[in-house]
Amino acid sequence: MLKKTTPFEPADRLKQLPPYLFAEVDRKKRELMAKGKDVIDLGVGDPDLPTPDFIIEALNEAARDKANHRYALDAGMPVFRDCIRRWFEKRFNGVKLDPEKEILPLIGSKEGIAHLPLTLLNPGDVSLIPDPGYPPYRSGTLFAGGIPVYMPLMEANAFLPDLNAIDREMLRRAKIIYLNYPNNPTSAIAPKAFYEEAVRFAHEHGLLIASDAAYCEVGFDGYKAPSILEIDGAREVAVEFHSLSKTFNMTGWRVGFAAGNKDVIALLAKVKSNIDSGIFQAIQLAGKKALEEGEDAHRKLLEIYQRRRDILISGLQRLGWNAKPPKSTFYCWLPVPPGYTSAELALKFLEEMSIVVTPGNGFGPNGEGYFRISLTNPEERLREALERIEKNHKHPHK
Ligand code: PLP
Repeated sequence: MLKKTTPFEPADRLKQLPPYLFAEVDRKKRELMAKGKDVIDLGVGDPDLPTPDFIIEALNEAARDKANHRYALDAGMPVFRDCIRRWFEKRFNGVKLDPEKEILPLIGSKEGIAHLPLTLLNPGDVSLIPDPGYPPYRSGTLFAGGIPVYMPLMEANAFLPDLNAIDREMLRRAKIIYLNYPNNPTSAIAPKAFYEEAVRFAHEHGLLIASDAAYCEVGFDGYKAPSILEIDGAREVAVEFHSLSKTFNMTGWRVGFAAGNKDVIALLAKVKSNIDSGIFQAIQLAGKKALEEGEDAHRKLLEIYQRRRDILISGLQRLGWNAKPPKSTFYCWLPVPPGYTSAELALKFLEEMSIVVTPGNGFGPNGEGYFRISLTNPEERLREALERIEKNHKHPHK
């Protein structure tokens, strides 16, 4: 006899999660689009431009080779790891990594970032996470039974965490500290001196630094972000996460890598070998091609973002908004005008201007009072958005 069907009760770990920020914004956006509105989406951070052709061709070629059709090695293809080693050394002041022990390809950096807490945390252990911050630091920690503890990123401190202000008891229980520069959502960058301080701090308190460098290659006005692995002593205490997603418009491909402390890399490989079975080899080979031959395409991409940034920021400034040009990432982080919460402002943009912006509070309590605009739209759409904002300014509804 069949049992009576009962609704499945989600596990407690899932109940601890807030609704995924973008899902909520997306739902409202779809609602408006269904009503026939021309919505300009300045919300989600997903490049609008296609992956460069030479990378797609490399994928096509590799996909036709039957040697690439079987399970990939969990640890990634040796040729891909070695290519990452070369790229890293060239890009970061001669940092020489051991491709077997200090590099691990990932199914996008998010995958590694979210799985990392499974390597070190026991139930009740703490991860220190930036607030505002990218949501998987928190959810990955919760899934591992850990406790995420916020480190406020305040404008007065250039959106860097004040390491000395971390609660001593929480610090004692902490095993991982997540850092993310260039930063999503604030677009802040970290000077090398901060990384030096963080490495000292990690040594002193027995912490692993998880440095999320997903936006490392998106820099303007010639800015090139450092790697924390350039700092003396970093390899004993840090793992850095890199991504091909934003560098080469490859978000859908799912390819990135972790680099750094060999013990943690081995543990992460162990976690992953129990969960996934590597990255499709054709994607690894296309990723290799991107790292080897992508310099021109990457430079052009940065020029495009920089032009968009200049149009948007100068336009907003002209309209009286307190907007500062970001040095890195494709985000602009703006204070909400007096009289609104972040959510109220985002709602106003959606309902009165059909523009999606991301309310800062979705990234953590200290995101309240800010909103994020993404540069992943063509120039004409940014200009159109500015026009709508200007018109709304003249006829404000509140
Ligand atoms: N880290 C940050 C701060 C991000 O904003 C993102 C994506 O939006 C990622 C990591 C993940 O990128 P991917 O998994 O595509 O490498």
